[in-house]
Amino acid sequence: MVAPRDTAHSGTALLSGAPAERPGPDLAAEPGRATEISFAGVGKRFGGNGSGEVVALDGIDLEVRRGEFVAVVGPSGCGKSTLLRLAAGLDSATSGSVAVQTDSVGFIFQDATLLPWRKVLRNVELCAELRAIGRTERRTRATRALTAVGLADFAGKLPGQLSGGMRMRVSLARALALEPELMLLDEPFGALDEITRLGMQEELLRLYRDNAFTALFITHSVSEAVFLASRVVVMSARPGRIHEVIDIDLPYPRTRDLRYEPAFTALAAQVSASLKEAS
Ligand code: ADP
Repeated sequence: MVAPRDTAHSGTALLSGAPAERPGPDLAAEPGRATEISFAGVGKRFGGNGSGEVVALDGIDLEVRRGEFVAVVGPSGCGKSTLLRLAAGLDSATSGSVAVQTDSVGFIFQDATLLPWRKVLRNVELCAELRAIGRTERRTRATRALTAVGLADFAGKLPGQLSGGMRMRVSLARALALEPELMLLDEPFGALDEITRLGMQEELLRLYRDNAFTALFITHSVSEAVFLASRVVVMSARPGRIHEVIDIDLPYPRTRDLRYEPAFTALAAQVSASLKEAS
């Protein structure tokens, strides 16, 4: 493991050395697990020089434990993306502190953000290349990651030859090739059709089980949040505060049939009601 970090996100050297022992989904929710991300009294303001200040986040206290899958839901503009950007070190808090215990971080955006002129395999290698991982190692990792998302046969294709769902799987593979300990996902499936989205959710859970990363996942969808997460954080409208944190006590592995079970429906109703209150 790398040394703890306190808001000093360097944005470089995002890979640690030997993979640390990861707890995996079954142990993730266990109380007392080491903390991977800690937000303590975090506030974030934008603007303020006469142009009108926006208080995006206010008094955020949240701990994400190692190996846990945390989903964040909340009304549009409540600061979900800002929260994720702070965890990624892409922005800094105005007040409070954000501590992330690993430098091994993968970031996935709503858009697959692939380079259209690079073949799929070379796109998957990109982040590893930017982190100066040697050619042989990054080729091995990229091939493994592409196989993990079921796209080994498409290594030589260009992104334009793939469907939206496949492009998102390439984006997932690109992050996986970093072998991240922490995966930050900002509405990655928001632009996909419903059938593809359900498939991607199952695929993500399989990757979560196999790779045992910690996940912080932003979504608008209550059903997606409950299906994926071991805890759902409900945020309130601006300024973004944590309204409620709901434990999703459903065992992994999860398959799409889970959605028809009463326990799932009850939790989804609970999150929806909380979201309504928060809005
Ligand atoms: P969400 O992801 O929940 O939709 P965001 O985190 O994107 O919300 O934004 C929270 C609030 O902060 C919004 O009002 C948004 O307009 C504002 N905001 C986000 N980024 C910036 C920025 N770079 N400059 C000014 N305001 C911003």
